[in-house]
Amino acid sequence: MDMNGKIAALLRDFAAIQKSKQSMWGYKRAASAILALEEPIESLLQPDGTLRKIPNIGPSSTRIILEVLQTGTSPTIESAIEESGQAGDIERRGELRGHFLSRAQVIAALRNKKLHGPTLADYHGDLQMHSTWSDGSQTLDAIVEAGIERGYQFCGVTDHSYGLPIARGVSMHQLFEQHRAIDTLNKEHRGRFRLIKGIEANIRADGSVDMKRQELRQLELVVAAPHSALRTTADQTERMVNAVKAPGVHILGHPRGRKYGSRPGVSANWDRVFEAAEQSRVAIEIDGDPSRQDVDYELAKRAVEAGCLFALDSDAHSTAELSYAETAIAHARLAGVPKDRIINCWPLERLLNWLRRM
Ligand SMILES: [Zn+2]
Repeated sequence: MDMNGKIAALLRDFAAIQKSKQSMWGYKRAASAILALEEPIESLLQPDGTLRKIPNIGPSSTRIILEVLQTGTSPTIESAIEESGQAGDIERRGELRGHFLSRAQVIAALRNKKLHGPTLADYHGDLQMHSTWSDGSQTLDAIVEAGIERGYQFCGVTDHSYGLPIARGVSMHQLFEQHRAIDTLNKEHRGRFRLIKGIEANIRADGSVDMKRQELRQLELVVAAPHSALRTTADQTERMVNAVKAPGVHILGHPRGRKYGSRPGVSANWDRVFEAAEQSRVAIEIDGDPSRQDVDYELAKRAVEAGCLFALDSDAHSTAELSYAETAIAHARLAGVPKDRIINCWPLERLLNWLRRM
C-alpha cells in the first residue's frame, strides 16, 4: 500500500473541486510535495501525533494527511466531493493514476534486492532529453557536466523535431549547428563522455514520422513519440505498429502519451505493438518523467514477454530532471526487465553499433 500515492491522489481530487484558484494550487502543490517525498509519509508521524514539517504543505493539507493516516481515508474530502456534484469527473481522474509510482516507491524499488532488473550502477546513459535548442532549459555543456557527475558514459540529446512547433522544434539548419556543437564537445571529452545526436520525432495520425528519410539519416538516434490524439478512446493499434515499422526509428518514446490524472493516452492492442517492435528491433521506452511513467511496469512486463528491447529515459528538460531516469529504472526493476535487453545498460560501442544498423 502506497500511502504517499493515496494521499497525493486525494489532495489532487480536493484541488479539482476548489472554487478558488489559490486553494486549488495550494492542494496541487501539496500533492506534488507528497509524491516527491523520499520516505513513506507514515515515517514523518511524530510520537505526539503531529506531522513533521514538509515544505509546501500548509495547515489544511496537514489536517487531511493526518485524517488519512488515522482513518485510512478522508471524510472531509469524501463529503466535499459528494456536495460538489463532480463525483463522476473525480472518479474518471482517479482511473488515470494507475501504476504510477511515488518517489518513495521509486527509492524502495531501487533498494529492493529481491527485484531482478537493472540497478543504478548498470545504467550507463540516458537517451531522451531536451536542451535549450528546443523546449529544454539545459545547455549541451550542462548535460555533459551533469551526465559525468551521474556516472554516465553517454547522453542522447533528443530535441523536438520541426513538426512540433509548440515545443519549439528544431529546424534542419539548427540541427546542423547543434551537431557541430556536439562534435566539439565530443572531441573535448573523448574517451570519457559521448553526446549522441538524436531527435524526438513526432508520430503522425497514420503512424508515419514527421521527418524525411534523408533527414533522419543525419541523426544517430531517433526517438519517435505520439503527441496527438492522446485523449480519444479509439483504437490506434495501426498507428503504433506503423510507427515502430517506420524506417530509421530506434525508440518508441512514451508509447502511450498518458499524463497523471489527466489523460489516458493512446488505446491500442499493445501486445501487437510490442510484437511489431520486437520484429523491427525498436526499443520500447520507459519514460521516467513522474507525470508520464510511460510505459509502466505492468505494460512493460508484456513487452518483456514479447522479447522487446527497452530504453529507460528521463525525458529531462533540465539537469535536475535527469534524476527522472531513476523512475524508469524502478519500473524496469518491478517489471523484471533483463539488463541485457536495456540499451542504456550496453557498453557505448555496442549501443553505437546498434544505432547505426537502422
Ligand atoms: Zn515527447
